[in-house]
Amino acid sequence: MKLPSGHFERLASEGVTRITPYPPGKPISELQREYGIDDIIKLASNENPLGPSPKAVEACQQHLAELEIYPDGNGYELKQALAKKHNVEIGCITLGNGSNDILEFVARVFLSPGHNAVFSQHAFAVYPLVTMATGADLHEAGANSADSAMPFGHNLENMRQQVDEQTRVVFIANPNNPTGTWLSAASLRTFIDDLPDHVIVVLDEAYVEYVQEADYPDSLNWLADYSNLIITRTFSKVYGLAGLRIGYSLSHPELAGLMNRVRQPFNTNTLAQAGALAALADDDHLTKSVESNRIGLEQVSAAFQRAGIEYIPSVGNFISFKTELAGSQVYEGLLREGVIIRPISNYGLADYLRVTIGSEDQNARFLKALQTVTGLTL
Ligand code: PMP
Repeated sequence: MKLPSGHFERLASEGVTRITPYPPGKPISELQREYGIDDIIKLASNENPLGPSPKAVEACQQHLAELEIYPDGNGYELKQALAKKHNVEIGCITLGNGSNDILEFVARVFLSPGHNAVFSQHAFAVYPLVTMATGADLHEAGANSADSAMPFGHNLENMRQQVDEQTRVVFIANPNNPTGTWLSAASLRTFIDDLPDHVIVVLDEAYVEYVQEADYPDSLNWLADYSNLIITRTFSKVYGLAGLRIGYSLSHPELAGLMNRVRQPFNTNTLAQAGALAALADDDHLTKSVESNRIGLEQVSAAFQRAGIEYIPSVGNFISFKTELAGSQVYEGLLREGVIIRPISNYGLADYLRVTIGSEDQNARFLKALQTVTGLTL
């Protein structure tokens, strides 16, 4: 059977046809192939420049001899360790193939055509993607203005206004990627208190460990008060295990039970479970990673200030900025210098680019390359 082009597009479910795939950061190997450059640094996917804890690597190595065996589908040991660390019942924990997996579970459990999910303008791109795939509607709330105290950040009043009878999920990134903006405990609590009981709140805390602000929420303490709260976390960022794909959520056990119904039986793999378990026990590595990021954020933002470059103050392990040049020109110029960062015009932030905070040397290399491309003194 030979079918005309576009045939399958017409057969696909309507929500899926509206999706534009997520554009990931350019892999180093691709830039090597395309530009023939060898000395490349990638500051495009908010990865940890220190890498994972050596203990996590060792734990993975120890499990290499048993790859023919399926993983523990329930992830018992890792869940036990997480339960202990966060002082919750084991039934509150759901493991995901990255925290992205959890976002998919939430959408599959609670969204279908006729429902909607609320999220902010400039919020993490996966929220609209998982929503669209279910056929549910997108309710995007206008973000803070560029000149507000938290430029381009989530505006909770606008988000509340987008909630209606058909809303089933509100996605909140705290801090948000790619803006690096955050919400205080008081404002977030007021927002959650005011939601109707048919709304699930997903509080995405992928970058939580980096945040040092005094009034940033300790949301784990809220689980007892809000049964409609799902907190998502990941081993991809500060734990440096992005390649293993492992994240988790903390929620009321009833919500965890529902997510468990749509979860693949073996969604998290053996190495990921072992690596994450060992990473959790290495507090020193975590402290070093956070400190390295604090110093790096200062290094990069101080250089931006010196050069008069516009940037969004960030509490994550990345920072978004804009120069006088077109974003695509800066991005491509940096590629030629062997530095991969991320254009974020697809987030409604025209000409902005996001750079991940690297090691001191990587940051210096990025700043030097940016100076070459823009002619500014960094
Ligand atoms: N949430 C946010 C805000 C993110 O930036 C990311 C990664 N870019 C994720 C979730 C998903 O990360 P992972 O699936 O690797 O846990």
